[in-house]
Amino acid sequence: MPSLERWVYFFGPGRADGSAAMRDILGGKGAGLAEMANLGLPVPPGFTISAKLCLTYLEQGIFPDQLHDEVQRHLKQLEQATKKKFGDPKNPLLVSVRSGAAVSMPGMMETILNLGLNDETVQGLIAGSNNPRFAYDSYRRFVQMYGDVVFDLGKEPFEEVLDEVKRRRKATRDIDLPPEDLEAVVREFKSIIQAKCGAPFPETPLAQLWGAIEAVFKSWRTRRAVDYRKVHGIPDDLGTAVNVVAMVYGNLGDDSGTGVAFTRDCRTGEKVLNGDFLANAQGEDVVSGARTPQPLAKLARGKLVKVHRELKRVAERLERHFKDVQDIEFTFEHGRLYLLQTRRAQRTGLAAVRTAVELVGERLITPDEAVQRVPPQDLDQLFHPMVDPRAAVTVVAKGLPASPGAAIGEAVFDADEAEALAKQGRQVILVRPETSPEDFHGIVAARAVLTARGGMTSHAAVVARGMGKTCVVGATDIEVDPEAARFRANGRVVKRGQVITVDGTTGRVILGAAKLVEPTIGRHYAQLMAWADQRRRLRVRANADTPEDARRAREFGAEGIGLCRTEHMFFQGDRITAMREMIVAPDQTGRRRALAKLLPMQRDDFAGIFQAMAGYPVTIRLLDPPLHEFLPHTGEEIAALAKVMKLPVAKLHRLVDSLVEANPMLGHRGCRLGITYPEITEMQARAIFEAANRVVARGTKVVVEVMIPLVAHVEELRRQAQIVRRVAQEVFQAEGRAVPYLVGTMIELPRAALTADEIGKEAEFFSFGTNDLTQTTFGLSRDDAGRFLPFYVDRGIFDADPFQVLDQEGVGKLVEIAVRLGRGVRNDLKIGICGEHGGEPASVKFCHRVGLNYVSCSPFRVPIARLAAAQAALEEQGVINRTRATV
Ligand code: PEP
Ligand code: MG
Repeated sequence: MPSLERWVYFFGPGRADGSAAMRDILGGKGAGLAEMANLGLPVPPGFTISAKLCLTYLEQGIFPDQLHDEVQRHLKQLEQATKKKFGDPKNPLLVSVRSGAAVSMPGMMETILNLGLNDETVQGLIAGSNNPRFAYDSYRRFVQMYGDVVFDLGKEPFEEVLDEVKRRRKATRDIDLPPEDLEAVVREFKSIIQAKCGAPFPETPLAQLWGAIEAVFKSWRTRRAVDYRKVHGIPDDLGTAVNVVAMVYGNLGDDSGTGVAFTRDCRTGEKVLNGDFLANAQGEDVVSGARTPQPLAKLARGKLVKVHRELKRVAERLERHFKDVQDIEFTFEHGRLYLLQTRRAQRTGLAAVRTAVELVGERLITPDEAVQRVPPQDLDQLFHPMVDPRAAVTVVAKGLPASPGAAIGEAVFDADEAEALAKQGRQVILVRPETSPEDFHGIVAARAVLTARGGMTSHAAVVARGMGKTCVVGATDIEVDPEAARFRANGRVVKRGQVITVDGTTGRVILGAAKLVEPTIGRHYAQLMAWADQRRRLRVRANADTPEDARRAREFGAEGIGLCRTEHMFFQGDRITAMREMIVAPDQTGRRRALAKLLPMQRDDFAGIFQAMAGYPVTIRLLDPPLHEFLPHTGEEIAALAKVMKLPVAKLHRLVDSLVEANPMLGHRGCRLGITYPEITEMQARAIFEAANRVVARGTKVVVEVMIPLVAHVEELRRQAQIVRRVAQEVFQAEGRAVPYLVGTMIELPRAALTADEIGKEAEFFSFGTNDLTQTTFGLSRDDAGRFLPFYVDRGIFDADPFQVLDQEGVGKLVEIAVRLGRGVRNDLKIGICGEHGGEPASVKFCHRVGLNYVSCSPFRVPIARLAAAQAALEEQGVINRTRATV
């Protein structure tokens, strides 16, 4: 260990060794305390032990030699600053020892208060305060916290003793206990420690201090801290700092207290100082919920008005200094205010937007900074109800958060039943092992969809997201038994009709009806998005399959449609029958007959979409999916189809069997369908151009882009493009009117990316289908990965699910190659992305950097993509996001 390194940093009134810029070393709490001290704000003096020591200590189990000297020196300094002495029976210095990592982890780590008390020093505290109840209350809190944190005994054994004493005294609150009782409680607590740990409670303050320092470092590895980091993507190697701060007392009587204040309302963004406080209490009373805190507004009335005024003044000062909403911990001792912590307040998406816009109005930040302040993903919350973050909920399982929002309903295990119940006005959640196109009507009817299997690009996820419907997929903890109409999850059983809440924002499956909060959007959102739109270079389109989706996409600000999956139109109503007829038709004549039924349906849909997009480009992709997805499965379905097709059931069975593929995702799908059955391409091209002409005839501009899917070889594209162009000519000639159009391709197979120079000669645009490109680059089935991919992410083998966040190193390299090769042969080649990554902020930023023209994503994610695109442009210009530098 390098001996020249400094491990301990002092802070006191008006000056500190550190500052807000030293978060990595001091942790958030230490950096905030240092900065507040430098600003001359009322902070009790103390020192911070570097977070850089944490991991080395955890690995080696010892501290560097000079640490003891450094701590000793800083203790001396603290004694001078407070005019008290550690261990002095007459005028004892007491300290708090608290953890604090560079990234805030609320409630996850440890705090010990009143350290330095023993049977001797407590006398000094009594003498100094003239308040034996306060002194023994502080003492019992200290021994209790020490037993919990350092001896790892938990809270229960101590709470039990305290409850018993309160029962005997008929006291409801700790503060009602007389000093003799509290003194007895202290003795009892110490004997619990002795009995359970076989070691005495350390009486010397220095031994207490070192025990606490070690315990705080060790708390970095507690189960809950590890889990919290995993859920919030916080690196494991940051470590925590240790803050040793002179005690100020909130439990000295009714003119003392402690609380938490926010400079704005973190749910709505409203500029109003708010929070909670407790009189005659110490910090853990507020956190533990043992007593119900009072709203801060109450402090503004009565005897404590001065404390409130002072708090308001410092809160404003802190907000102006850090240029962001602050979450402040404070204590007041005999009416005198002390600040114990300040940090950037966590907030909802709604509050983030309002605050960012209003801070510009207050000239604290610029519009550039406002655009960078709001995490794009948080915009999601503006459009969906959310589970109230303050509600207590019972989580039965967790899956992938496939489509955000929260919905409550009765669990239903069958799509038909979901539809039937929804028609009666009931609210249902469709729970399935996984979904297929046959479940579509059930998905439409349900408030939310929950599946045990599947990844972020599985059928249920894509369909639900497109509809803006709440969805959780890949909840591998649940075992769905559709026959018995129930699911089992972590030892609980949820039966048909039982109410659950699905939280698609976090992936939680909650028992019963959780409290939800409704979204509201308004002028702040409009302002922020206007700034974002002025700054971005990337265009943002939507993936939309129906006229209704297209209209919604426009409302969200989409500048075109980047992907219309034509097959999705066939999920609805009786269209699936015509589709099935086409698929199982034994010959071309049968296929053409079925296609003739599909043509008018497609034409109407396309016309509706063109109309809705009013002159914005619309990319229509020709039929793509593995045909088996549409096949009839059950005997009943086959019999019904046989009747429509006037075929013997046995023959239809044979036809269906002949279409089953071992590996359908790599089988007869994409352009391979149009290559083998050109009549499909002809029909779709005809529907597109006839629809376009119809809309143009009504006076609406139309820009058509026909997209050929799953091209691996340029020859596939050439042949399909030929058909499209021929049909276009035929339609234009027959109707005496032409519309502008392009024919392009998806780049969604590695071979297409690697031969993009060849393909670029034929294609008038590229659109990266990164769902399939991820699947084929990794050799990872997008429908099955949900079973094991979470394990990879959990164990850190992958940083993120590559179906959610574009794998920039691998898949991204193919994207870059294809962009370079494609533009090499056609320098104005229009290039976009239409895989699910098109709405994921980090992936959008990547698309900006590699020079794509647009991203396309589900309508609800369009605002996210617009904001992420603006942030990417600002990052490129080197506009620094100053929020990172604040605490
Ligand atoms: C893709 O593969 O990225 C894509 C957009 O197509 P689909 O998801 O329909 O296969
Ligand atoms: Mg694809």
